[in-house]
Formats: sequence, structure tokens, C-alpha cells
Amino acid sequence: MSKNVDTQKATTRDFSIILGAVRVMVSAVILAEICVFSIYSFLDPSALPRGMTVTFFVATAVAFPIGYYIHNQNAKLRKLSRQLAIIASTDQMSGLLNRTAFLEAVKEALHTPKSGPTAGSFLFIDVDHFKKLNDDFGHSVGDEAIKAIADAIKATPEEKALVGRIGGEEFGMFLPYANKKKAKIVAESIRRKVRKLVYEKGEHRHQLSISVGGALHQAGQSLSDFVQRADECMYLAKSQGRNRVVFEKTNQPQIPENEIRQTA
Ligand code: GH3
Ligand code: MG
Ligand code: MG
Repeated sequence: MSKNVDTQKATTRDFSIILGAVRVMVSAVILAEICVFSIYSFLDPSALPRGMTVTFFVATAVAFPIGYYIHNQNAKLRKLSRQLAIIASTDQMSGLLNRTAFLEAVKEALHTPKSGPTAGSFLFIDVDHFKKLNDDFGHSVGDEAIKAIADAIKATPEEKALVGRIGGEEFGMFLPYANKKKAKIVAESIRRKVRKLVYEKGEHRHQLSISVGGALHQAGQSLSDFVQRADECMYLAKSQGRNRVVFEKTNQPQIPENEIRQTA
């Protein structure tokens, strides 16, 4: 499937390079013919047809390869700059957006005209007792766990969700237009997935868990306030025993816990 898309993209790129080269060639031929016409009709009108014919072939033969080269180089530069933009915005370990790119994307989403009562919900996700995992199993297992948690977060079927690695073992998720109920369901599903990740070595056993804080965006609220409220709820989740989702209190009706929470 993705191979087909790649082939299609390459064909479109080749076509646009050739089209660009043809444009350069046509412009060069027209320009050269105008010059030849002006000079020959003044100096030697009898040689005009031969001069214009020779000019046509010479200009075509020279301008097409030059045009092709220029457009090919341009296409390569555009591809490189796209790749650089992706590298600059991606967290290499998790494959998620890095902190800067993620917060920038959330900010942009908050400024997008709303089609519902809220711009969306923010989930602040922090891995529980991650230092202990590193201490007991080593940093490479810790790195592996970060990748596995990132995969669990990425697997959320919310197509428009923005996901980023905010810091070491902290992740953020923005769910556009999601109300508290929807955001809690998403958070709980991630929490349950992460809970299934278990590391065992000798007498050590570490079952991963996350604490999630959630906040619902309110009109006019700044990005930093929004994120901070979710962060505060994450700390509440820690203080209430970890491995749980705490959503800020809002005026929205509460959802019965049994609709949301399932046992770990
Ligand atoms: P809490 O439940 O209170 O969040 O405890 P914690 O141990 O998760 O939190 P703490 O802030 O004490 O420790 C976070 C640890 O995460 C410390 C740091 O070494 C580790 N860490 C941060 N980034 C990485 C990383 O990229 N790889 C690995 N292996 N460890 C990381
Ligand atoms: Mg932390
Ligand atoms: Mg932690």
C-alpha cells in the first residue's frame, strides 16, 4: 500500500520535473528565436529561415537538459527540507512529536475555529515509578519501555489526536473537540494498555503504569494554562495512588465511574 503511494509520488515528481524542463525549453526557444529574428531580419533576411531552424534545435538541445537539471535539484532540495522538518519536529526515541513541535501544534489547533463547545481536551501522561524501572533493569530497558508506551499512546484510534513526548517519561495528548467523557475514555484505554507492559528479571518484576491528568479547554484559555491544569491533575493522580486518570472538575455532568474505569 505505502509502496504504491511512494511509486505514485515518485511518478508525480518525475512528471513535474519534466514539465518544468519543458517550460524552460519553450521559454529559451522563444527568447532565442526572437533574438535571431530581430538580428537576421535586420542584417541578412535571406538567412532567416536557416538561422531560426538552427536556433530551434540548438536552443532545444541545450535548454532541456539545463531545465531538467535545475528542476531535479529543486525537487531534491524540497524533499530534503521536508525530511529536515520531520527530523526537527520528531522525538527520535519515541517517534512522537517532540515537545516544541507538539506544543506548537496544540497551539495552532486551539486557534483553529471551533465546530463545537470546546477546542478539545489535553491529557498529561506521566509514567509511574520509572526511575525504579531504570534502577532495576537498566536504562536500555527504560528506553524500550518509553518506546512501548509511546506505541500504546500512538495506537489511539483518534485520527486527529496530537501526541508528543513532553519530557523524559512524560507525554501529552491533545484530542480536538473531545469533551471530558470522550477524553476520559481515551485516557483509560491508554492506561489499560500500558498496564499490560510487564518487565521481569530474576527477583525483579515491574508492571508499568501511568498517571494521567486531563483538562478541558475553555474559551480564551492560554496554552500554558491549559497544559498546567492537566499537569496539576496528573499530580493529583500521583497523590491518589498512581495508575489512574484524574480529570479536572468542570461544570459538565459527571460520568458514572463504572462507565469509564475498568479494573487493571
Ligand atoms: P513518579 O511515579 O513520581 O513519576 O516517579 P518516577 O520515578 O517516574 O519519576 P522521577 O521524576 O523520579 O524519575 C523519572 C526518571 O525517568 C528519571 C530519569 O532517569 C528517567 N528517564 C527520563 N528520560 C529517560 C529516557 O529517555 N530513558 C530512560 N531510560 N530513562 C529516562
Ligand atoms: Mg515525570
Ligand atoms: Mg514519572
